[in-house]
Amino acid sequence: MSSSIVQRLDDIRRQISRAAEAAGRDPLTVQLCAVSKTFPASAVQEAVAAGQTLFGENRVQEALEKIPLVTGGRWHLIGHLQSNKVRKILPLVEMIHGVDSAGLAADISRIGAELGLRPRILLQVNVASDDAKFGFPVSGLRQALPQLLALPAIQIEGLMTIPLLEGDPRPHFAALRRLRDELATAAHPLPELSMGMSGDFPAAISEEATIVRVGSAIFGGR
Ligand SMILES: *Cc1c(COP(=O)(O)O)cnc(C)c1O
Repeated sequence: MSSSIVQRLDDIRRQISRAAEAAGRDPLTVQLCAVSKTFPASAVQEAVAAGQTLFGENRVQEALEKIPLVTGGRWHLIGHLQSNKVRKILPLVEMIHGVDSAGLAADISRIGAELGLRPRILLQVNVASDDAKFGFPVSGLRQALPQLLALPAIQIEGLMTIPLLEGDPRPHFAALRRLRDELATAAHPLPELSMGMSGDFPAAISEEATIVRVGSAIFGGR
């Protein structure tokens, strides 16, 4: 088992490098966020031993239980976050990917300020206009962005999306990149694009993903 996590990590890193080079990018501009949801702390610890430090969890309760058991990990919360769980999770994670409403962003800013933190966040965008997914609609984000950027304690570092399960994800990755290019300014460059999972991360990298969230291709099927 342990050798397979090591081997798969190695394989994913190679695929990331290949996709980056094919797109004319420096592979070091792509961060691998290893998604460890449903897998035990022991599996994460094996990945740490293989040199992986950044991990993603999508549920707060699971993250609260697992993170203290792992030595040497850095954590991103990648899933939907409810306002009533912000206070507990903020001290444990470096970044929150799924910020999908102005209300949640305001709560993260307020609670971050109370805790003396400056939370780094990504705004989740529903580029596919899929009713079943969380995220700002594109037009809603255009409208809300000035108000979001004015929140005092959060650092908005970029955008995140989860495309539809079916169909070609690449148009959605391209749409997120174009939206970022449209919204970015010198004061708020929105450098991070969190997109791409086990099945499609090379395509996301060719559309300028800076963080790929890869779970099952590293840890196995869930
Ligand atoms: C589970 C999950 C992933 C990883 O999915 P895999 O297909 O296992 O790579 C990525 N992003 C989010 C938001 C997830 O919940």
